[in-house]
Amino acid sequence: MDVATVNSERFQDRFELFCQIGETERGGVNRPSLSDANRDARNQLVEWFEEAGLTVSIDEMGNIFGRRDGKNADAAPVLFGSHIDSQYNGGRYDGVVGVLSALEVIETLNDADVETDRPLEIVAWSNEEGVRFQPDMLGSGVFTDIFDLEYAYSREDSDGYVFSDELDRIGYKGDEPCEPRDLHCYFELHVEQGPYLDEQDLSIGVVEGVYGFSWLNASFGGKADHAGPTPMHLRNDALVATSDVINAVRRLTATGGTDLVGTVGSVDVYPNSINVIPEQVEFTIDLRSYDNEVVEQAVEQIQNEIRYAADREGVSWDCEEIMRVDADPFDDDCVATVERAAESVGADYMRMVSGAGHDANYLNTICPTSMIFVPSVNGISHTEGEFTEWDDVVTGANVLVHAVTEKAAMTETTEISQ
Ligand SMILES: [Zn+2]
Repeated sequence: MDVATVNSERFQDRFELFCQIGETERGGVNRPSLSDANRDARNQLVEWFEEAGLTVSIDEMGNIFGRRDGKNADAAPVLFGSHIDSQYNGGRYDGVVGVLSALEVIETLNDADVETDRPLEIVAWSNEEGVRFQPDMLGSGVFTDIFDLEYAYSREDSDGYVFSDELDRIGYKGDEPCEPRDLHCYFELHVEQGPYLDEQDLSIGVVEGVYGFSWLNASFGGKADHAGPTPMHLRNDALVATSDVINAVRRLTATGGTDLVGTVGSVDVYPNSINVIPEQVEFTIDLRSYDNEVVEQAVEQIQNEIRYAADREGVSWDCEEIMRVDADPFDDDCVATVERAAESVGADYMRMVSGAGHDANYLNTICPTSMIFVPSVNGISHTEGEFTEWDDVVTGANVLVHAVTEKAAMTETTEISQ
């Protein structure tokens, strides 16, 4: 298949311009969901979509779609994109490379006068990051019927601003219904946000799926007392028990010989005073693996460790699993398409699994889906120091051109079955 190559210079000019919207002094961007900067970025995007000849539509969640017709107007479209909202003082690449590379794919096909069989649609999802309004991936979540529209509209930020009002305020509460519809497949190009591609000097990750995870809320209840007069053998210190569990999580993940990762990311100590023995500690545990059985066993082992630590220290304990999400394997055929695309452009690539969740996870529940990763230098993301070599971004966009072109072609059999 003879497939066009993206225009690196045009793509980069656009990227640099886009990064000026909400730019921070230290080279990042501050464009949290439904902020003024997020509105300005949306406006710029819509302008570019229209200039590229796309038919723009905004749905009730503020998801922005740009459609390019195909020879068969009634066929299910190939959808691809990502998000443009950022963390507070976040990086320039997260999400943005996926949306702007999608636009660059359209421009490239326009330049080459390619008319695909299927229509193409590109998308910028609302509220992917989940920093201002929780939960994350809200726009794609409503689109795929994971969340109700009313639930999404009612989300409040820490200052009491409501999602629905803020969406209205920035002018992006659209008319199109935000609901599942017939899609041929979905692709998302994204920065890896981990170190593996950079470490191995590869340009492309062919993403087979996303880790499953378990979230635990745990607590220990001990006895508060004076830090001076209380002898060591009479103490019931909730924080000492917690530190045993933190160490157990590290031991289990470091020595298990699996892909398991584990984190104690939040610890609240009461009364949290320099001269009082900690009476109560509440903490969280995040356990992830691509193997559901590994997560299951890790949860059991950590629950045991919590009991042992409580016994040793003479404190009460509690542990509740508040969330369990199974590993999410992407569609074999879409993964194979991305792999063929990587081979076609001569990219150094590997098949890999994502440790982080993406809009693609939700899309995978309604249509065949896969992702393309490009390297994050030193694995850094969600900070202003996020960086990806421009050549790698371009390689990723070229892989996307190939993947989209392949899936947008209709063979006779797909014509009948579609
Ligand atoms: Zn992202």
